Amino acid sequence: MLRAGVIAVQGDVAEHAAAIRRAADRHGESVEVEEIRTAGSVPDCDLLLMPGGESTTISRLLRDEGIDEEIRAHVADGDPLLATCAGLIVASRDAKDDRVATLDVLDVSVDRNAFGRQKDSFEAHLDITGLDEPFPAVFIRAPVIDEVGGDVEVLASVDGRPVAVQQGNVLGTSFHPELTEDSRLHGLAFFE
Ligand code: GLN
Repeated sequence: MLRAGVIAVQGDVAEHAAAIRRAADRHGESVEVEEIRTAGSVPDCDLLLMPGGESTTISRLLRDEGIDEEIRAHVADGDPLLATCAGLIVASRDAKDDRVATLDVLDVSVDRNAFGRQKDSFEAHLDITGLDEPFPAVFIRAPVIDEVGGDVEVLASVDGRPVAVQQGNVLGTSFHPELTEDSRLHGLAFFE
């Protein structure tokens, strides 16, 4: 039995939990999902997921609760982390915003809300490295990744700008993979 933790200070916690369960099912794994709001649980988790929301709020709450150090240790131990939208912003090296205390577990810099007004929210069928068929990706005031470190692989881009990246055990997306029934992205992050 694998233990999956969903950081639950904000965001689509239930949707991510459901997506992890569906992905585990497809891969023949059994998983127990825990919602994490306080320090002490992350060290027991095999998989970790950081949802979207508001990156300023999430990073502040993680720091106040002392969960930030636990996430860093999880990644340093080689255990998988999926960070989506604001989660990606928090996981990054640099969000170019003093109000976001980034965890620096993914060697990318991001621009918050960079798709601008016209493209505030949109859906795209994305070709993602590692998935056979295009993925229905929902973007909501999404960040753009504007710099990637040497160890970071770009898995998908929109208009030439990276929106899904992987660095070893950390996978980050600008979009919300939990908002459709398609759990292949969760499978890619955790079970492949
Ligand atoms: N715009 C948000 C931020 O900058 C992210 C949006 C999201 O997670 N859907 O934190």
